[in-house]
Amino acid sequence: MTATASAAPAAERIPHWAGNEPLTGTSERFADVFDPATGAVSATVAMAGSDDVRAVVREAVSAFPGWRDTSLAKRTQVLFRFRELLNERKQELAEIITAEHGKVLSDALGEVARGLEVVEFACGVSHLVKGEMTSNASTGVDVSSMRQPLGPVTIISPFNFPAMVPLWFAPTAIACGNAVVLKPSERDPSASMLLARLWREAGLPDGVFNVVHGDKVAVDALLENPEVKAISFVGSTPIARYMYETATGRGKRCQALGGAKNHMVVLPDADLDLAADAAVNAGFGSAGERCMAVSAVVAVDPVGDELAAKISERMDKLHVGDGRRGCDMGPLITAAHRDRVSSYVEAGVRDGAELVADGRDCRADGAAEGFWLGPTLFDHVRTDMSVYTDEIFGPVLSMLRAGTYREALDVVNTNPYGNGTAVFTENGGAAREFAEDVEVGMVGVNVPIPVPVAQYSFGGWKESLFGDTHAYGPEGIHFFTRNKVVTTRWPDPSQGGVNLGFPRNS
Ligand code: NAD
Repeated sequence: MTATASAAPAAERIPHWAGNEPLTGTSERFADVFDPATGAVSATVAMAGSDDVRAVVREAVSAFPGWRDTSLAKRTQVLFRFRELLNERKQELAEIITAEHGKVLSDALGEVARGLEVVEFACGVSHLVKGEMTSNASTGVDVSSMRQPLGPVTIISPFNFPAMVPLWFAPTAIACGNAVVLKPSERDPSASMLLARLWREAGLPDGVFNVVHGDKVAVDALLENPEVKAISFVGSTPIARYMYETATGRGKRCQALGGAKNHMVVLPDADLDLAADAAVNAGFGSAGERCMAVSAVVAVDPVGDELAAKISERMDKLHVGDGRRGCDMGPLITAAHRDRVSSYVEAGVRDGAELVADGRDCRADGAAEGFWLGPTLFDHVRTDMSVYTDEIFGPVLSMLRAGTYREALDVVNTNPYGNGTAVFTENGGAAREFAEDVEVGMVGVNVPIPVPVAQYSFGGWKESLFGDTHAYGPEGIHFFTRNKVVTTRWPDPSQGGVNLGFPRNS
């Protein structure tokens, strides 16, 4: 969606959030926010100019020293309170997500639940930032290490998880003593505003959590600002690469999570009913707008025909419609994105893939103006077809055939993305071999969407992640702190004297 310069927006105007208050900003640019199930404009969102970004970052800069010096005990109290508030208000948050993203309500609640897990993990920060201590490392010398916060840090998030992705980073960053500026997706900005209000209600001091809305203008202003010490980005691969190269070129710490093409490999001994359920759930949940969605099923001979029939049978029963009406699958985020996904269906047909189910025929339980596209299944897809090579980010599932396990593994490993993958089998040895050999960051064994729990870290390999630190879990603590080592000796007159040699242990 591009920013419009419309002077008089008809609907609610969503402001920025700085110093625990809404901030109107000075930019005259706004963008429309849609309800994807009705196609109606539900709000307009302020699109920050560089002055607005500077104003928001200033709030984080002034809040940082006080928050850094706030005891871990007090920070933890705020996190516990935030956890309680988020849990109490999860239904409201889920409804906001459904209204702007379009995913069905139960899925939106699932997104909030996964975000809550990270808040709960961050409540243990006192344990997680403990340093090390060696006494008498050299005679009379003690050495200790400590992890300290970085300063103001920025989170730039995508449209598909407007609550969960900010919650992958903000609780850990805040628990570690940093101040945060969140730049959410301009397509579904309201979830971030509720999160901001909950942080304030939880007692987080002014300026520790801020939100600036906008597009490339805002992002570039954050990248250029020397006060911003780190960037956690999640979005498409070209932008992730740009973020990583630009941020690190300017001396900032950066973790940039990119796009995906996730394969589900089905071995001949797999339970095909379970595999078909998994392919449908992981392929069409959230209308395929998940970075961990399965978009390619690789069936190892001879199970392809039977598996395709079972998947297609299940797809026939999917109920597409408004996420507030108890449907299985909602609309796509915008009309433009729906048309782009639809163009891939045309390309797949042109390239000679077998169209088993065509989502363009979909009749949705919702307003005619909604951004609908039903589930689509292609079979006999080849690796040179654009339905396979490109991240479509919609309800389009491609089935490929492989003669052997090795051929299937090669397909996965040759793909430039490496976010998630899954193997379906009843053979423990084969599953173990796959987990060892596959070049992907997150692997499921009979688990189609292997998003790690909060005690582990989330992140892909290859074109799916730029940087070397994954999100949340122990790597999140590492990302949002830097290590300092203190070497101490308490003077003893007998150890005096001038010696220009390099210090040696004794
Ligand atoms: P996107 O890359 O278009 O946008 C992500 C963020 O970058 C948004 O905040 C957006 O405003 C900003 N942005 C967009 N264009 C920009 C530009 N030219 N310069 C600077 N900033 C820019 O992604 P999206 O469409 O919002 O989200 C979908 C993508 O995110 C998919 O590719 C999906 O795979 C990916 N994603 C990845 C993960 C992961 O964990 N790897 C998780 C969720 C989503």
